[in-house]
Amino acid sequence: MSHGKLRKEKNCLNCGQLVEERFCSHCGQENSEPRQPFYFLFTHFFEDFTHYDGQFWKTLRYLLFSPGKLTNEYLAGRRQQYVVPVKLYIFISFIVFFVPTLLPETHSDADSVKVSANGVKTMEGDSLPTLLEINSHKVYSKESYDSMANTSGKFIYKLARPVVHKYYDLRNRGDDVHEIGEKFTESFVHILPKALFVYLPLFAFLLWLFHNKKEWWFFDHGIFTLHFFSFLLLFIFLMRLLAYVADWIDASVVSSIVNLFLFVSSFYTIFYFFKAHRRVYQVRKSVTLLKGIVLFAINLFLLTFLLIVLLFFNFLTLH
Ligand SMILES: [Zn+2]
Repeated sequence: MSHGKLRKEKNCLNCGQLVEERFCSHCGQENSEPRQPFYFLFTHFFEDFTHYDGQFWKTLRYLLFSPGKLTNEYLAGRRQQYVVPVKLYIFISFIVFFVPTLLPETHSDADSVKVSANGVKTMEGDSLPTLLEINSHKVYSKESYDSMANTSGKFIYKLARPVVHKYYDLRNRGDDVHEIGEKFTESFVHILPKALFVYLPLFAFLLWLFHNKKEWWFFDHGIFTLHFFSFLLLFIFLMRLLAYVADWIDASVVSSIVNLFLFVSSFYTIFYFFKAHRRVYQVRKSVTLLKGIVLFAINLFLLTFLLIVLLFFNFLTLH
């Protein structure tokens, strides 16, 4: 695994067996010196992803551009040349959650902070215009919303009550509408990877429901799901990175080209699902396609529902 210096002694330090070559044939441990230069502590972590003739890059290339291929390779037993699914998913999650926290602020972020700082300042003295228009009802405060909701008796008003209350809490504190909107959008970006994580087992379960239970084990669906979700996470991450770079360049031509590209490429995730699904679960073309469409529709519905629920609770905890 590592390229550490080999020991002269031929006894395995892990299990005591005789080691003929580099690796112990009994337990697989490399017969290298137990102490390595200090930097090995850090390179060890990334080594797994970079050795084996670019195992990592090959995995990433297939993951992004060959839908279903990694799953097929894994299920066919060709595993050594690729990063294993769980490790891949964990590594990509790590990058997706960690890297954005390292990026410095872009122009537009800095601008918005300035704007909202001014906004708060000018609004401090004035009375706040906090009008909401809901179905032509004019709502000025928590209390007027409650009385409106009570008179109409509609369930949807009861459901939206905590959100409206939160809105007035934020407004009364001095946040302007623009600022609330921005915080909300930002929270959406953070929620998406979490929602995917929560949704993972449900996605595998639906695959299991729709495919032959004798031919396909839950394990197989797990591999398909891990690969597809790794792709989604990585794709979302790359798109965010692109948007970030465009933001940073801060030229309107660049940002409109990038926005167009982002819009078009979001269809790639849909194409990817169908392609991967067909490649892995190929029975008859029409049957596989039909199953794919039904699965896609159900997943889209459930995932949207999950996102709405998460956003609902996320809005209530905005600060
Ligand atoms: Zn051994």
